[in-house]
Amino acid sequence: MNLSLEPSSARFQREVRGWLKRNLPPRRKRGDDPAEYGDPKRIAELKAWQRKLYDAGYLAMGWPKEFGGQADPNGDRREVLLRQTIVSEEMLRAHAPSVIGMMGVQMVGPTLMQFGTDGQKRRFLPKILSGEEIWCQGYSEPGSGSDLASLKTRAEVDGDFFVVNGQKVWTSNAQFAHWMFCLVRTDPEAPKHKGISYILIDMKTPGITVRPLVQMTGDKGFNEVFFEDVKVPRQNLVGELNQGWQVANATLAHERNMLGSTTRTQQMFQGLLHIAETRRRYGKPAAKDPLVRQKLADLAISVEAMRLHSYRQLTDLLRGRHPGIAASVNKLVSTELNHAICTLAIELLGNYGTLDRKAKYVADRGIWPYEFMFTLGLIIGGGTSQIQKNIISERGLGMPKA
Ligand SMILES: Cc1cc2nc3c(=O)[nH]c(=O)nc-3n(C[C@H](O)[C@H](O)[C@H](O)COP(=O)(O)OP(=O)(O)OC[C@H]3O[C@@H](n4cnc5c(N)ncnc54)[C@H](O)[C@@H]3O)c2cc1C
Repeated sequence: MNLSLEPSSARFQREVRGWLKRNLPPRRKRGDDPAEYGDPKRIAELKAWQRKLYDAGYLAMGWPKEFGGQADPNGDRREVLLRQTIVSEEMLRAHAPSVIGMMGVQMVGPTLMQFGTDGQKRRFLPKILSGEEIWCQGYSEPGSGSDLASLKTRAEVDGDFFVVNGQKVWTSNAQFAHWMFCLVRTDPEAPKHKGISYILIDMKTPGITVRPLVQMTGDKGFNEVFFEDVKVPRQNLVGELNQGWQVANATLAHERNMLGSTTRTQQMFQGLLHIAETRRRYGKPAAKDPLVRQKLADLAISVEAMRLHSYRQLTDLLRGRHPGIAASVNKLVSTELNHAICTLAIELLGNYGTLDRKAKYVADRGIWPYEFMFTLGLIIGGGTSQIQKNIISERGLGMPKA
């Protein structure tokens, strides 16, 4: 198997690297983290960054041309998909700020292309790409996280509107999002998976209250969202009434892919190696300690296995094969592995490992304890590890349902 890039792709990679070098916003001391988007100035900067990426032709390249992407629907999508992968990897390598409208670009955008009406596509897709409108995901509710289909937020049809009442929780970015893609119960009598609809809610509609929740990182990245008689036009229904479960699952598969990134894991592992080589343990560099070496070797094997798995996933994508449970494998392995890397980094840093970002003697700008807590959240968000294991065993390995 040839794992190196073709000359044309290698040329493109150099082009992207050069562009990023010239255009990357100045690196901030701290606060590059997605969960810290509370500050309006930072939000404006990140929207401008998304616009710049889009204008340069480096965003949503796999979207069809008619919706602002670069893929020819009747032609070969392989080249653009490969190029998009190269851009994503180069952005991570360059520590570029993340794309603020990622939930739009990678989750609701592709879902609208699949299930949306022409009017919805025309109205929403351009502003998703330009970063003008940011989206949040209204799925989880108190008591309905893993068992998402038990959700209770009601939407009753009243003429040309739905009237929504209920509560969502853990809604990332709701404090500044313009729109929410939301699951609501439209038929309380039907079996739980069959009475759900997928609607788009303008976050400025009267009756919506957003209350930020403080995470253990200290950030206010996610929120409680309350709905009291919120009127949503019927034309904001995506797919058929009461058939939202199918639409919701399409979005979830896109989300799992978004949450698993091999390049990020490789970067974190490189950071860990640097600590092992430079920090001392019993008078020698930590990397010389046999127990540390064994832990590093275990992690190195997993990082490499994941890198190869991502190549297999890319090959499937390029050959038009259905990804099956690959997104779940990716999400499960990458989030658990990132957390394991942070755990060892903190151990090697000793007493400095747990210091807060603002502490005087903080090591590595405090990224390790921050990432330790942040990656713990990612193990839960987008479907917990246990739920991914259920999906892999039932849908992938054909094991009986628990
Ligand atoms: C950082 C972060 C961001 C998030 N962002 C969003 C967002 O933007 N929008 C949104 O809608 N939600 C969001 N969530 C919520 C997330 O999707 C839920 O937290 C997740 O689905 C788990 O649901 P829960 O918290 O209700 O836990 P529960 O479902 O109550 O699970 C509790 C424990 O029981 C286990 N468990 C539950 N059922 C099973 C089962 N059948 N088999 C085995 N084990 C099981 C779980 O794995 C878990 O360990 C976010 C969460 C986090 C952490």
